[in-house]
Amino acid sequence: MKTAEEQIQFFVDFASRDLSIAREGDLLNLRDDLGELLVGNGFYQLEPPFLRDYQIEDFHNLQEEIRAFFNQLVESRKPQSQGKQFTVQYNFFPSFISNHAIIQHTGAVRDLCIVLLGFLLHLRPLDRLQRCPAPTCSKIFWKIKKQRFCSDRCARRIYMRKYRNPPEVRDKEAEESKRRYKKRLNKLFPGKKIRVQRRKRTAK
Ligand SMILES: [Zn+2]
Repeated sequence: MKTAEEQIQFFVDFASRDLSIAREGDLLNLRDDLGELLVGNGFYQLEPPFLRDYQIEDFHNLQEEIRAFFNQLVESRKPQSQGKQFTVQYNFFPSFISNHAIIQHTGAVRDLCIVLLGFLLHLRPLDRLQRCPAPTCSKIFWKIKKQRFCSDRCARRIYMRKYRNPPEVRDKEAEESKRRYKKRLNKLFPGKKIRVQRRKRTAK
């Protein structure tokens, strides 16, 4: 059984996955992994479509739901449940085989996944859920330690960009754009004294 961290990671990976290139074997693995995750947490499918019958469209739909869940958390930091209902029933009972109490959740796969995700994220620092700042990426990732990008690939890409554009070049470019901006303002407001301040550069 995966740790809670690994389970969150699983959902985050699933959300950013390119399903259009998934092959039948990948779907098979997805069905297995997701099923294991649900049952391992006491979440049981009671409504169709069941995971074993999940086709690529079902995975697409599930992915959309999970993406929307993450997006809302990252964008607004507001509870996701607003406006949407997820129906999961639960039973609480003593185990027959041990001294434990057991909670069993039942419902449809979609609802079970979202509710499980809610449980997993519950009481964890939500700022660890971040959108990758690399241009043209924007994947959502679950931040580990000081991680800043979704992947090594993105981190390398940004590093290379900085490397290719050393500070002297960037300063020169900034001066140039400031001059052009001032010229534009002068044209718009002739005769006005205009002071253009440089925007603070963010550490990106
Ligand atoms: Zn990225």
